[in-house]
Amino acid sequence: MLPKHTLMSNNTILPLTNEAHRAMVIHKAAEKYIKTGITNNITDALRRYLDSDAGPDEQIPIFITSPLLQAIRSALRSARPTCDECRTGINLQNGATDQAGRKWLTAWICPKCHRIEYSNQSLSEWLEILKSEIRRGAVQP
Ligand SMILES: [Zn+2]
Repeated sequence: MLPKHTLMSNNTILPLTNEAHRAMVIHKAAEKYIKTGITNNITDALRRYLDSDAGPDEQIPIFITSPLLQAIRSALRSARPTCDECRTGINLQNGATDQAGRKWLTAWICPKCHRIEYSNQSLSEWLEILKSEIRRGAVQP
């Protein structure tokens, strides 16, 4: 159950073995998804690229980590919200565009029933919300 706001994805980003290769794939992701206005977030662009466009030689799973994402993953281990429909633990995604083409800062997505809750809270704001939920003890592991 989300605290009245909304969710978080595993953000499984597929990083690469060497820097040049990695830079090339990031460049291609930016060309396709940032230059065209689909997203303004490179992590989101890269995720989309790896999901939809990357060739077999580009599909080397690695995590792109940042202190913020690590903190969010950690908070979600203690306080992962659940889907209002099916009670499955939901995932937080950074950056999303809804079917009407409206852009959102984040979206909570159910991996089971694919219910999506869009949000204009940033990842940082969600982290603070999750931390306050943990402090209040409102979310049981
Ligand atoms: Zn669900």
